[in-house]
Amino acid sequence: MISSSDKNPLTLLTRVFGYSAFRGRQKEVIEHVLKGGSCLVLMPTGGGKSLCYQIPAMIRYGLGLVVSPLIALMQDQVDALAQNGVAAAFYNSTLDSAQKSQIRKQAQTGGLDLLYVAPETLNSPGFQSFIQGLPLSLIAVDEAHCVSQWGHDFRPDYLEVARLREHFPSTPLIALTATADPQTQKDVRERLGLAHDPIFSSSFDRPNIRYQIGSKEKSREQLFDFIQSEHPDQAGIVYVLSRTNVDETAAWLTQKGLKAMPYHAGLDANQRRQNQARFLREEGWIMVATIAFGMGIDKPNVRFVAHLNLPKSVESYYQETGRAGRDGEPASAWMAYSSADVVKLRRMMEGGEGTDDFKKLGRKKLDDMRNLCEATQCRRQVLLAYFGEEHSGACGNCDNCLQPSNTWDATISAQKALSAIARTGERFGAGHLIDLLMGKETEKAVQFGHTRLSVFGVGKDLDKKQWASLFRQLVAAKVVTVDVEGYGAYKLNPNSWAVLKEGQKVWLREEAKSVGKSKQTRYTKTEGSSNNAGPVNANLFEALRTLRLKLAKAQGLPPYVVFHDSALREMAARRPTTLNEFAQIPGVGEAKLKHYGSTFVELLRQLSPAPEIKQTPAVSSSKGASNSSDETLNLFRQGLDAKAIASQRGLTITTVWDHFGQLIFEKKLDLKDVVDLSDKEIVLLQTELSDSAGRLKPVFEKFGGKYSFDVLKCVKAEKQNLGNGLLY
Ligand SMILES: [Zn+2]
Repeated sequence: MISSSDKNPLTLLTRVFGYSAFRGRQKEVIEHVLKGGSCLVLMPTGGGKSLCYQIPAMIRYGLGLVVSPLIALMQDQVDALAQNGVAAAFYNSTLDSAQKSQIRKQAQTGGLDLLYVAPETLNSPGFQSFIQGLPLSLIAVDEAHCVSQWGHDFRPDYLEVARLREHFPSTPLIALTATADPQTQKDVRERLGLAHDPIFSSSFDRPNIRYQIGSKEKSREQLFDFIQSEHPDQAGIVYVLSRTNVDETAAWLTQKGLKAMPYHAGLDANQRRQNQARFLREEGWIMVATIAFGMGIDKPNVRFVAHLNLPKSVESYYQETGRAGRDGEPASAWMAYSSADVVKLRRMMEGGEGTDDFKKLGRKKLDDMRNLCEATQCRRQVLLAYFGEEHSGACGNCDNCLQPSNTWDATISAQKALSAIARTGERFGAGHLIDLLMGKETEKAVQFGHTRLSVFGVGKDLDKKQWASLFRQLVAAKVVTVDVEGYGAYKLNPNSWAVLKEGQKVWLREEAKSVGKSKQTRYTKTEGSSNNAGPVNANLFEALRTLRLKLAKAQGLPPYVVFHDSALREMAARRPTTLNEFAQIPGVGEAKLKHYGSTFVELLRQLSPAPEIKQTPAVSSSKGASNSSDETLNLFRQGLDAKAIASQRGLTITTVWDHFGQLIFEKKLDLKDVVDLSDKEIVLLQTELSDSAGRLKPVFEKFGGKYSFDVLKCVKAEKQNLGNGLLY
């Protein structure tokens, strides 16, 4: 419990949360709220929004009421606060009446600093009569953009917040969001009665996120390449549009040996809960999901968010990609898109409910999204401009900055394309037009007599990909209009005629880069983040991670609620061996020092200052793995192969191969038991692995994929086992 005499925000920040200084505009917001002021706070994800109301709620008299949209998020926040010794609870439909009455009693006797509540609970008669009798220190409205009909995520329940305010006119209200364009901001302020209160806005920029957007070809393979080359074994979210696509993509990735699971509203509630819990509590899972997944996901070490379909607005894109890298460490926002996505979304929208104004707004938002995809300048600049923020560009951490595209005079090709549209009666989309330009005698071309047109075969100078890119860019530049009701047929407009008849110049960028294969955008360990604590002993970090997992599991908590990765990294870098030193680690407050200090210090003492931590293999190093790999060994000895073991044990094939690697390293298995390689090949691969300093990817690429990552992992394990001199 926090002593009520602690009234200084900075003292609380240090003692409770373990940080020595406020970030961004936190201090200003806190001071404003402490004086009783209301405000709107615009801060990016991971910018420290919650401290803006948590600290004032702990200092001001009364209960801090926090309106938050999802139960999962509440649970996490309450758990995290409890870890820091803050008295917090949540109140929603998952509690039984005994639990509810206990929380009411706790609040009534002043035993709670913060109470989290879902908007739909707010105006239930029971809650109303309870809350009316209490002094409130403040009302915080998280994800406040949900109150606006102009936002991308309107939730009618949020209108209850506006009504709640009528009962507490003099209680400070603090509305917070990480995603709101200027129109949404205005709407939020009006609806919550904040029109005359200040806005505290921080830059929306997320410098640790690398944005990559490219054209869609074989999207799953592109995705697989991207994950393998940039984020192997790391947690990520893959967004697709439909439930079927979710299931298929998750199954495809699993079959390729990755740890992937599905999440969408069509799964039964139990399965959904299970998958979500697994994603939060275990390491390295990939969640393939519709946009039903994500709100309320507070996992800080999601390393990538990938889109296989276009989001419907820049706000959605920003919010969904914002779930990557909340811990400030390097992360990726990756997308493969095609113009068919735009057509599909347009048709869904036109066919959906809503007023004409609403649809018009939807079209505008989709156009803005497409422009972000087709942009040739810095993505960050375009993205931030959408939120009304200036950025000088050249961020150095987006695909366009890392690989600037060249432009070319595409006037003549554009004229060919436009003329093909005109001569076929403005009735066809890109697929048929490209066939035509390239002179392909398809059934369709013959049937419509298009092989006799003068444009037939005039475009052989470009390939299919280049034509597809050209059409997309013509649409983005509004030189061609897409007829949504006509199933995506291309139509000419006045701009088209200016190009066709008046010879107006068209400059386009060279063939859109394909995402997923580029080597230039590959991460190295140290780039892309200012928050890295410097070179850290990977084995020490792993040992700390294992300890964290054990402590979290024992309490039924996600690991990051115990400590963030960044705190572990600091521990590994500074190696504190006394409690005093441990207290200096950012994220270690008094409560965590008391609970975990001696356990962690003991481990750090054991492992430091040993000059060399004993080398462990690159394969799985979690504590359970050795038992688990022994089980794999038993099944292997019974004659089962990797696939059969995986299916029997409910593991991914990759995990089984990790076990093989572990077993080879422990000399319980011979390399040749599991891989079909000649001695010559083994020597060759081990030499290559030496040259690549043990990195698998370069070797994988050198042989054009002939040896899978699984095979290479085992060869590496054998090499380490030899290299340690354990065998000879
Ligand atoms: Zn950039």
